[in-house]
Amino acid sequence: DESTQTDYEIAQSVETDPIVDVVEPFGLSEDDLELMGEEKAKVTLEAIERIKREKDDDGKLVLVTGMTPTPLGEGKTVTTVGLGQAFNQIGKDALVAVREPSLGPVFGVKGGAAGGGYSQVLPMEDINLHFTGDLHALTSAHNLIATMLDNHIKQGNELNISVNQVNWPRAIDMNDRALRETVVGLGGDVTGVPREDGFILTAASELMAVLCLADSIEDLKARIGRIIVAYDEDGDPITVDDIGATGAASILLKDALKPNVVQTIEGTPAFVHGGPFANIAHGTNSLIADDVASHLSEYLVTEAGFGSDLGAEKFMNIVCRFGDMEPDAVTLVASVRALKYHGQEMWPPDLDELEAEDVDAVERGLENLDKHVTNLQKFGVPVVVALNRFPGDTDAEVDAVLDHCRDELGIRAAESTVFGEGGEGGIELAENLVDAAESESEYEPLYDIDAPIKEKIETVATEIYGADGVNFSSDAEDDMERLTDHGFDDVPICMSKTFHSLSDDASKKGVPEDWTLDVNEIYPSAGAGFLVVLTADVLTLPGLPGEPAAAGMDLDSDGNVSGLF
Ligand code: ADP
Ligand code: MG
Repeated sequence: DESTQTDYEIAQSVETDPIVDVVEPFGLSEDDLELMGEEKAKVTLEAIERIKREKDDDGKLVLVTGMTPTPLGEGKTVTTVGLGQAFNQIGKDALVAVREPSLGPVFGVKGGAAGGGYSQVLPMEDINLHFTGDLHALTSAHNLIATMLDNHIKQGNELNISVNQVNWPRAIDMNDRALRETVVGLGGDVTGVPREDGFILTAASELMAVLCLADSIEDLKARIGRIIVAYDEDGDPITVDDIGATGAASILLKDALKPNVVQTIEGTPAFVHGGPFANIAHGTNSLIADDVASHLSEYLVTEAGFGSDLGAEKFMNIVCRFGDMEPDAVTLVASVRALKYHGQEMWPPDLDELEAEDVDAVERGLENLDKHVTNLQKFGVPVVVALNRFPGDTDAEVDAVLDHCRDELGIRAAESTVFGEGGEGGIELAENLVDAAESESEYEPLYDIDAPIKEKIETVATEIYGADGVNFSSDAEDDMERLTDHGFDDVPICMSKTFHSLSDDASKKGVPEDWTLDVNEIYPSAGAGFLVVLTADVLTLPGLPGEPAAAGMDLDSDGNVSGLF
């Protein structure tokens, strides 16, 4: 019975074609690829240069984002993959670009990050584990910089680095909360200078953000060199260039910079490359993958993490600006369970209650969807709502959403059943997107890059989050003054806020009103080229749950994995 098959079983039941054959119709030949087995490849940088020279970038860009989700996830990746397949089914050449998963979460909560059902990227077990080694390379490069920094301090500290102002922790691609806060340098003079340190997830390293924004080796090196790793005793920034680690770190990342290409379950080529933290970074796959993919296809479907308030806002205000891209349409993924969640009149939410039919709760929850629609329209891009249908959803619930979008909001909307049916379940959605993408986009970022830092933050807070205003802590006021003095003010801002709510309070559902956004700290990600604005403490190294998925995993003597997904 297909409906009880796991994602892994579905993936195993499909015959894949060699990746060389999958990408050939899109203009990539075997010479353009560095093959890693039959099914995975990296695209060479020479091929990318050639493609950009030879082919017009007249492909349409479709961004996939979502409403404020439940903790279960509402299906953005599934929709992204399914939509790519659906475009190909209606005769439009389409490619997909998504993030590469982090290893850490795989062992915590069961479920991969490579789509699901009949809309996944393959080989899903590889993609979710070591894949092509990009995350390992990033971990090594990150820790090389950390080592060089501590060595500099130990060898006499010529740069006068303040050991209390080192802000380059170690990185690891594992949800190992015991390493969150550590002390390094114990063991006396031979070991070094003791200081407090800690670990972050590799995905949260600025190097990941840098990799995802760099467009060439030169640009990669320049960005790495600019990263601020510490401050000296006078409060001046110390960069990777200052400690002499730029070249070596770049060498470790030279292959990771090349985008990975694999295929979806229906043989649509999919770029799976880069996965920056969506919180303290911009949270979308690499720009280099988007760029090459948009030169190779009529439609590129790409996912931005979380909702219009986070991933999509950052995609529009940061990524599109840096990459000189313009989205032609946005797919806003909604689910009946998320609408019910917002329409539920209780806290804490009862996730079991989301199963039973409740059209009234769906209707009460629509205000959250509406706010996301309005937010996206502020960028001048047409919005198509994709109602990602789950098995228990009833027709009455689904129709309530579609009717509301069409009749009351006057926007396009379609049900999507790509999880169970693959591309065929997304044909109506794809047709709506073609219609939208071919007509109306007048994309514009929300704020002027030259505006004062304060104004940029206030614009996002009031226009997108629906806050009445912003309350800056005195530290944040100092940060803005210092950053402006250092000339770090003419860059986009990267907001760090909970994704559980449009507001900064995870417990507030729907569209929170009468609240003020608290900004605690602002610091530069000088390599990435934006300012990170912290609105609350950010967990950059999560832990494992009480019953980690890892405990149920196994490998048989033929090399088959089980318990993974
Ligand atoms: P997001 O990218 O928004 O976080 P995903 O696409 O990863 O969400 O989906 C979250 C989880 O829900 C995944 O395990 C996925 O397989 C599952 N899922 C998504 N859509 C459906 C659906 N229509 N029916 C059943 N399961 C689904
Ligand atoms: Mg996703």
